[in-house]
Amino acid sequence: MVYEQYHLPLSENEELEIEYVENSEWDGLSDPCPECEGEEFNHIEYNGGHYGQYQGTVVERTDYWDQKGSLYTECLDCGEVLFKNPAYDVLRGYLDGEFDAP
Ligand SMILES: [Zn+2]
Repeated sequence: MVYEQYHLPLSENEELEIEYVENSEWDGLSDPCPECEGEEFNHIEYNGGHYGQYQGTVVERTDYWDQKGSLYTECLDCGEVLFKNPAYDVLRGYLDGEFDAP
């Protein structure tokens, strides 16, 4: 288990706690939860890339550049967090109104 914790300053008196979590006993969505053998997960990922227009239609040009990866995975049966990118806590803090983005 890899667990790292960071503190992101929001103002002089406030900070946002963000975490990196990686369960080294879990090998991805096709692998059951190492804590309870559960096979269903809440999973969030990011996906983006180079986009342009071709004959009036927007197309993704993965031959130029793309980015994708996991943000968060949690077992639905036992609630164990199997993976968390620190960006997840920043997004969550923003959506929960813990700070205002410009
Ligand atoms: Zn589980």
